[in-house]
Amino acid sequence: MTAAALYDLSGKRVWVAGHRGMVGRALLRRLSREAVELLTVPREELDLTEGAAVRAWMRRHRPQVVILAAARVGGILANARRPVEFLEQNLRIELEVISASAELGVEKLLFLGSSCIYPRDCPQPIREEYLLTGPLEETNRAYALAKICGLELCRARRRQEGRDFIACMPTNLYGPHDDFDPETGHVLPALLRRFHEAKSRGDTEVVVWGSGTPRREFLHVEDLAEACLHLLRHFSDEIPINIGCGRDLTIRELAETIARITGYRGRIRFDPARPDGTPEKRLDISRITALGWRPQIPLEEGIRETYRWFLAHHTARAADGAEQMP
Ligand code: GDP
Repeated sequence: MTAAALYDLSGKRVWVAGHRGMVGRALLRRLSREAVELLTVPREELDLTEGAAVRAWMRRHRPQVVILAAARVGGILANARRPVEFLEQNLRIELEVISASAELGVEKLLFLGSSCIYPRDCPQPIREEYLLTGPLEETNRAYALAKICGLELCRARRRQEGRDFIACMPTNLYGPHDDFDPETGHVLPALLRRFHEAKSRGDTEVVVWGSGTPRREFLHVEDLAEACLHLLRHFSDEIPINIGCGRDLTIRELAETIARITGYRGRIRFDPARPDGTPEKRLDISRITALGWRPQIPLEEGIRETYRWFLAHHTARAADGAEQMP
């Protein structure tokens, strides 16, 4: 039994900022089952990096709850290639949305950080208190610093003004509407696509970046959405909270799982010329589980479901039931 909520969401106007992304869409699906009034605004109508426009839109729509899921995100290569955008866009979105929310009296705000904000060489599993205790991983430093600023913006508003602004650190996420681009996406969707294409073409070898030894934890975005609602209701603290599943695997194990799921039977070759990134980043989830939330979707089941979604949405003849890339 979960304890009585600290914050009652019912009847509230809830703005999901970033509703077209993988996380935002999952939040909308989950929130559509709640008695709330959902607010969204397309990017073409509101640029979240423009403070005056953000304030004008918020004045008109008066959100009481804000979930800040809008961010410039990408895999290890996208981060390495475009540090300027990862730093500047994320800083600007956070600054404008969080400060406008404070100025306009938003009752509750949830900011989504990321597990990559922790120091590179953290003891495992990573506890929230390890934040800012050591140097960051080079490959996503710009993104991590921007996200750390977002956490601090929430904390400052809490400390100085008593706002109920909270922040969470989700682990690597995956699910429908992910970025399946093999160059810019994260490892799980990138490999789903690469193995699928290799199988479809009858290739005998698939290249996986790095050594295969880094360990990563993956959480289905539906589990994340449930966790976010849970935190809105049951969490209010200045120390941000981890969201993960508490279990990780090596990139090699992930690649083998994806090969099995996609039906690819050829060789897997690791390319050590590509960066590995952080060696491991498994989150300690004891704080959020103590609040009564637990992940529900086992990894293999989640990957199978995501692969089905990919087949239905990314392949030309999916409508005919064929598993062929365009
Ligand atoms: P990270 O968790 O921030 O490092 O982000 P990624 O999801 O991009 O990468 C996770 C790990 O998967 C890294 O060690 C990558 O080198 C490895 N990896 C292996 N193949 C791929 C791939 O095709 N795409 C991506 N993005 N990463 C890959």
